[in-house]
Amino acid sequence: MSYDIAIVGAGIAGASLAAEVAPHARVVLLEAEDQAGYHATGRSAAFWSETYGGAGVQPLTTASGPALRDGGFLEPLGSLHIGREGDRAAYDAFLSEFADTPIALKAVDPHAHIAGLLPEWTLGIWEPSCAYIDVAALHANCLSRARRAGAEVRTRAALRQAERVSGRWRITTEDGVIEADILVDAAGAWADEVARIAGANPIGIAAYRRTLVQLRIDPPTTPAMPHVAAIDGSFYWKPEAGGKLWLSPHDEIPTDPCDAQPEELDVAIAIDRLEHAVDWRIMGVERKWAGLRSFAPDRLPVYGFAADTPGFFWFAGQGGFGIQTAPAAAMIGASLLLGRTPDAAVAGIDAERYAPTRFG
Ligand SMILES: Cc1cc2nc3c(=O)[nH]c(=O)nc-3n(C[C@H](O)[C@H](O)[C@H](O)COP(=O)(O)OP(=O)(O)OC[C@H]3O[C@@H](n4cnc5c(N)ncnc54)[C@H](O)[C@@H]3O)c2cc1C
Repeated sequence: MSYDIAIVGAGIAGASLAAEVAPHARVVLLEAEDQAGYHATGRSAAFWSETYGGAGVQPLTTASGPALRDGGFLEPLGSLHIGREGDRAAYDAFLSEFADTPIALKAVDPHAHIAGLLPEWTLGIWEPSCAYIDVAALHANCLSRARRAGAEVRTRAALRQAERVSGRWRITTEDGVIEADILVDAAGAWADEVARIAGANPIGIAAYRRTLVQLRIDPPTTPAMPHVAAIDGSFYWKPEAGGKLWLSPHDEIPTDPCDAQPEELDVAIAIDRLEHAVDWRIMGVERKWAGLRSFAPDRLPVYGFAADTPGFFWFAGQGGFGIQTAPAAAMIGASLLLGRTPDAAVAGIDAERYAPTRFG
């Protein structure tokens, strides 16, 4: 079989890019697992926050907002960033980091937003635009748009070998041999491994484990509660349906690419941090899971052709923001892959800052 573009990895990165390029090219999406979205994409905390990931990521998140909103994938949530007096410097730095952006941030009394917050949490920043993302619906929508435009989605099709033969890729997968002009690396935590298979220089994409727990608490959460994040980066939580709470200790444990599993210690740390923030009672841990967030050395995503290997395209390093940036990332990726003018939604974004060539 012969294609214009073979995309390795059918998480949100590969799926959203496939949806964007499939109307203009013959595309195959290769996924190692039985099911697309089994790794980071299926394990996220599912929120859209324009401040998450920092000022270097914010243009991608903000530009993705209209597509996510118009598609019906966002629901209002709001985010409250909280701190203690010792966090004053981080609080000021946070406000100044986003001062020149369109994000509406406001200093508030955090106690006015969270009943039961312990007295020492005196600092608050309100970010009203933060929203829930329906990740499963977004991912399914990308896969179905790609398929409808003619893309082939192959699961249990791990990339094993890739070599350049007469100016094209000869690609050996678990599912057979194919050819393509361009090989896209959207393999998440495995991005460097895929680069090595194709003979490209790895960038240094590193994977870090992050843990989430679903708690039953007293009093139960209500839909009016916001997402809450500690300014010192030690936890975040958000209310979920049925009065549940999703809580993360904001852990970032360096890990080899794998099927990440939660560690009891990280669950205990998460609960301890919650107990030092609010007077709520924890009635039980209902679920716990972990996933890998993968970052380039400068923690910005990597979109573009490798300078060292013809026809090899990076679409990796989505870190903790790969869902909320997916529409803009896919538009930028598609314009670079197809050599077309970028969509108006991302025309103001300087794609060069995300180019793999920044690593030399
Ligand atoms: C706990 C947690 C909470 C998060 N919360 C949020 C959030 O609230 N908002 C947000 O925007 N982001 C969040 N993220 C980050 C987000 O989940 C990721 O940035 C995003 O899912 C990355 O997508 P991806 O497609 O690059 O990676 P993945 O979803 O991991 O997909 C990569 C795919 O490549 C496949 N693959 C690997 N090697 C091969 C091979 N050789 N051949 C074929 N296929 C291969 C894998 O099987 C995998 O399916 C969170 C992440 C975690 C772990």
